[in-house]
Parts: sequence; structure tokens; C-alpha cells
Amino acid sequence: MSQKIKGLKCKECGRLYPADPIHVCEFCFGPLEVDYNYDFIKRSLTHGKIESGPHTLWRYWDLLPVVTDNVVSIHEGMTPLFHAKRLGAELGLSNLFIKNDSVNPTYSFKDRVVSVALSRARELGFDTVACASTGNLAGSVAAYGAVAGFKTFVFMPADLESGKIIGAGIYDPVIVGVRGNYDEVNRLCAEVADTFKWAFVNVNLRPYYSEGSKTLAFETAEQLGWRAPDHCVVPAASGSLLTKIHKGFKELELIGLIPKHKTRMSVAQAEGCGPVVTAIREKTDIVRPVRPRTIAKSLAIGNPADGPYAARIVQDTHGGADTATDAEIVEGIRTLARTEGVFTETAGGVTVAVLKKLAKTGIISSDELVVAYITGNGLKTIEAVSGHTAPMNEISPLLSEFRELYDRVSVRSVQG
Ligand SMILES: [Zn+2]
Repeated sequence: MSQKIKGLKCKECGRLYPADPIHVCEFCFGPLEVDYNYDFIKRSLTHGKIESGPHTLWRYWDLLPVVTDNVVSIHEGMTPLFHAKRLGAELGLSNLFIKNDSVNPTYSFKDRVVSVALSRARELGFDTVACASTGNLAGSVAAYGAVAGFKTFVFMPADLESGKIIGAGIYDPVIVGVRGNYDEVNRLCAEVADTFKWAFVNVNLRPYYSEGSKTLAFETAEQLGWRAPDHCVVPAASGSLLTKIHKGFKELELIGLIPKHKTRMSVAQAEGCGPVVTAIREKTDIVRPVRPRTIAKSLAIGNPADGPYAARIVQDTHGGADTATDAEIVEGIRTLARTEGVFTETAGGVTVAVLKKLAKTGIISSDELVVAYITGNGLKTIEAVSGHTAPMNEISPLLSEFRELYDRVSVRSVQG
């Protein structure tokens, strides 16, 4: 189809397919992945070519599954990677970096996968795009769908946080609130996708969509001066993000843009929805579905499509795996805000809470160059921290009342 892409390939049996809107192998039901011509890419892709590209994830066009330059972009990617010295000092990690993906156009990492998926949807001639979402994806598909002129349908559990419903609704898609959990939404969407022949970004376009997450690895490597980190801590919902970050570093190594590395991949999940962590603890890659019960709704996928692959990568790279309770998630959100000034959503709270545990138990050693991935913005899930933030002190517009308040808060802060 193009020189850089050969087509799709079954991850399990290796059977080849054309680069169509399909995602499952007809023979073994394994997931399909994009099959690149790395020899061709290697000949033309250099650090200089990437560095002179746009200041968006499209600087890595050569390693993404689109064939034209006519991409759907709202300036996603190239988010900050910074040395988190204050959080690192608290956790005893001298080389801790935060990749802050909460500052993408719709405030989550989903803009990466959606920009790629909708670019491919346009190339494939679709006029309607859709998704099954735990919240962040809905906002992103709605925004990119609007910008690209697609008819847009977003499906989500009806009980999501209001920030996520409004954050999607502002772009005027059709929002379908399904009375059920994400796994039930996803099952419905598989049927709708079969019936209506739309571009469902995380169903029939999944092989293209998921590739967008590799750009988190590409950017990390470039921002570190073209090297892979020693260790990554990644939250898991479907498990796709972790597998694609790992794949991104492997691709850069394969085409000679970074030195050989042995990056360890650690996974973070909520205690109320930790099927990947459970599999790793049991030293298997068989992921048993669970019924999610957690405030981290963006991670509440009980039957994760890429869970087995994520579990295998964590074990193969000697990474760690741990979970966070609801209270630990809230504390993780507060810790990141207090130390680094970054207000993350519940998924980020899971990542910070698990990072703390992996540092404490020595699974992450104190001098490893570790990158923690913060994937979404705290303003989307204010319900989770309401009651856990500084209270408002209401007064009349009188200096005397302010003096009285000042004495009170000064006493409090002295007492600690
Ligand atoms: Zn197959």
C-alpha cells in the first residue's frame, strides 16, 4: 500500500492482511498490528529529519500508520518531560522524570491515538467516527471529529464524571450514555461497528489507533537526548499504552536512532480493577476479567484487550506491578500537585501511588532514570478530590474579618 507500511499482521499467528479497517485475525482471532517496512524507514529517517519536523507528534510521521500528509491535528504531543526533583526527593529517586501528557489539546494522552486514528479514517474514506470510552477518549474523538468534519458518536458509561461528559459534549457529538460499565459499552460498540460500518477508533481502527501511543516513547527518547530511560511506570486500562510505549523504544533501537537498551516496564492499576497486576503476581499472562470498583474510572476496564501482552512485557523486562486503593489514589493526586504543581486526574493518582510503592520496596532503585507517565488532567475528575483540598475561608469585605482570619490561619500553619 505504501513503501513504509506493508499491511496488517496477526500478532498471534503472523498471517498478513491488507491495511483495511479490520482488527481481528479471521483464522485465530488474534489482534492485528501494523506491519512496517523498517528497512525502508531506516534508510530515510534521521534525528535531523525528526527534529526539523512539526512541533507535534507528526514529527514521527515515518513511524505512524498513515500514508498521506493530510493528517487530522490539533497540535497534540511534544508535551513536557521534566526532572521531578521535589517528588523524587520525597520518594528517594534522584533521576525521576514526569511526562506530563495532561496538557494535550483535550487534556489527556488520548489525543495521540485519536489524531492517528482519524487521520487513517479519512484516508480510508469514512464519514462517521465513533468510540467506546471511559471518558477521556470521548472528549478527544469529539474534538478531532468536529475539526475534521466527521459525524461523531461517542459511547460511554452513563455514570461518568460530569467533567468528562461536558468535556466531550462541548464539541457537539452525539453522546450515547449506556447504562452499564465500560466492558458492556464495549460489547455494544462491537455490535454497532459490525452493523453500521463506521470508523470505531478502538474497535475496527484499533490497529492504527493504538500506534499513536508509541509517540510517548519517541518523545521521551528525543527529550532525553536520544536514549531510552532505565524504567517506565505506566498506568493500565486496556494495557495498550504500556505495550506501545515499549514498542516505541524497540522501534527506535531497531532503526538505529537510540542505543541498545533494557528499559524496565512497570504497571500501575487501581486495587478495585487490577486484572493485569493480578496476572503478574500469579506469574502468568492469563488475565482473568474483574468487575471494576474504583474511583479511577478512566482505568476501569475489567476485561483488558491488551492485558496479556502488557503482563508479558512487564515480566520479560523485570518491571514491577502494584495497585492503589481509592485513598492512595487521592493521596497520589495531592502529592503530585504539592510537589510538582501538576494536577492530574485519578489515573495519574494511581501512577504516583504505585510509583511510591515501587520506590519504597526497592523495585525502582534510587539512581535509575525513571519516567512516570501522567496521562490526564485533574480538572476532569474534581469529584475524586472534592473534600480533600484546601477549604475556602469566606469573609465579609472587612479588614477586621480578614485580620481575624489571618490570625486563625497563621496559628494553623505554625502548628503544621
Ligand atoms: Zn492469527
